[in-house]
Amino acid sequence: MSVTYDVIVAGSGSAGMTAAVRAAAQGLKVLVVEKAHKIGGTSATSGGVTWIPNHGLGTDDSREQAITYINAVANGPVRPDRIDAFLETGPRMIAFLKDIGMEPTPMPWPDYFPEAHGARADRSVVFPKYDGRRLGALFPLVREQFTRFKLMNRYTLDFVEANTISMRAGGWLRELLKVTLRYWTDLGTRRIGRRDRLFSLGAALIGPLIERYVALGGEFLIGWGVKELEVADGRVAGVVIERYGKRRTVHARHGVIVCAGGFEWSQELRNRFFTIPGDTRFSSTPEEANRGEVLEAGIALGAATEFTETGWWVPTMSLPLPEVSNFEEIHQAVFDVGRPHSVCVNRNGDRFVDEACGYDRFGNAMLEDQLKTGANTPCWLVFDATFRYKFTAGGIMPTALMPDRKIPADWWDQYVFRAPTLRELAAKIDLDADKLEATVARMNEYARTGVDPEFGRGDNVYDRNFGDPKIAPNPCLGPIDKAPFYAIPVNLGDLGTKGGLKCDAQARVLDAQDRPIPGLYAAGNASGSPFGNAYPGAGGTIGPAMVFGFIAADMVAAEAGTELGRYTHNSN
Ligand SMILES: Cc1cc2nc3c(=O)[nH]c(=O)nc-3n(C[C@H](O)[C@H](O)[C@H](O)COP(=O)(O)OP(=O)(O)OC[C@H]3O[C@@H](n4cnc5c(N)ncnc54)[C@H](O)[C@@H]3O)c2cc1C
Repeated sequence: MSVTYDVIVAGSGSAGMTAAVRAAAQGLKVLVVEKAHKIGGTSATSGGVTWIPNHGLGTDDSREQAITYINAVANGPVRPDRIDAFLETGPRMIAFLKDIGMEPTPMPWPDYFPEAHGARADRSVVFPKYDGRRLGALFPLVREQFTRFKLMNRYTLDFVEANTISMRAGGWLRELLKVTLRYWTDLGTRRIGRRDRLFSLGAALIGPLIERYVALGGEFLIGWGVKELEVADGRVAGVVIERYGKRRTVHARHGVIVCAGGFEWSQELRNRFFTIPGDTRFSSTPEEANRGEVLEAGIALGAATEFTETGWWVPTMSLPLPEVSNFEEIHQAVFDVGRPHSVCVNRNGDRFVDEACGYDRFGNAMLEDQLKTGANTPCWLVFDATFRYKFTAGGIMPTALMPDRKIPADWWDQYVFRAPTLRELAAKIDLDADKLEATVARMNEYARTGVDPEFGRGDNVYDRNFGDPKIAPNPCLGPIDKAPFYAIPVNLGDLGTKGGLKCDAQARVLDAQDRPIPGLYAAGNASGSPFGNAYPGAGGTIGPAMVFGFIAADMVAAEAGTELGRYTHNSN
């Protein structure tokens, strides 16, 4: 390993790997420093969905329509030039990914504020499965996908397979057989270990980025955390890194790009920044990763921060599994909470949200309700036997796959509660029984009429997309009337944090007077979200993370005056 590079990238998630590949493709000598023992960050574990409006992949979206939408939903003191830069560069970044051999593919997924002007259902992009064995020795070093995104924590699935199997749609058994056979007949990989050679979702985004980066001569330093930013001649000129208590300095001739994720795993920073700090273990991100050390290093240099008071919310449930990591215990209740034959109530027994809305909106509603009533975080998902028969809830599969007798004995009345009547269920979970019965009676009336006058559940395309098409008149509302009744507590979880170092449209980190700190750039959850406290659509965190990583790399390359151009493309 050399000790001087053109650019150092801290963190190897979607922001970091995009910055690294782009910088390497511009002819720069690049080092990615990754604190964890695995490459890929939360990004590799994620769904890998990437929100890029007007992506240029055969849809008729436009920059104007995207601006209309973002202006309608962005929340907080957001800056138009950051949004412009995101919209202008997003399609160029997609063109670059295609040029280096990746296959971004649009996916039909409604934007998360479908009622807002300019909303569409084709701005999310996904990446096809990727053969991880192409990475050679790096194959086992790439972070594995989120436990519950793999079938039985073993077989990788893409979105179509996951949907077909989990909803038991037509041909689900055939899909199941195909997936398992493929895995067990891959004898070469079975000899190495348990991991499926096919990366899907977030890992299918990160895998090819790593491959291209290495092919372009990029280097990794794995297991070393960035502790401090080194300053020389008034600019950031390197990083102090640490492993097992040993420190060393690595120099960067042209800049440092901070892509070290958010601070969701630092209880101290949560307590300092968040209105309702929540608990690190409600986060659905890998626990040994993002603790905000580089955010603090930036603050120590005088960097400004923004939007640190909020997270990318997702309701989560924590399964009581013995002797496993938080990452395996945690369950994202993204779809559970909006399915028909169920309702979510706070601890007063009141509803507080359109349960079928986007997960970040759900989280914000929990927060607001907690501030108003003090009776949320956690709230309760209450459902009946019909729901239980049809849908997953809190990591418990539908009864056909996981009958009640298969639920571990120690989960009952600790994690999942069951009773023959709503009154008895209310008693078990300490809710006012009259209140709960009245709330459920109203939901049953809404299921009959198809109209939820309180919160408009099922009134928009996003809600209905995840409802049950067999239910009429409203696919998101089914009666909650078949005993036994169940309840599971829902926490205010996250997919990471939304705030961080304040950056300008060129991804340069700003100081308290909004002046760029020379040599310092940031992207992804290490920086403030360009949308403030809004999650505009599926992929709304990875989309801007990649785009601002790409911009930062181009800024460093421009500063370096590189014309080496190992990569040439007429749109760059
Ligand atoms: C299960 C799940 C599914 C999700 N699905 C989606 C989705 O489909 N679409 C979407 O947009 N978002 C999704 N998200 C959220 C998304 O994954 C994150 O917001 C996004 O990956 C953040 O990217 P990043 O590059 O900023 O950070 P990360 O991917 O977290 O990468 C940061 C990296 O920095 C490293 N690091 C931390 N500190 C240091 C240090 N001091 N020195 C060096 N390295 C350091 C970390 O180890 C990590 O590897 C999901 C999240 C989860 C948990």
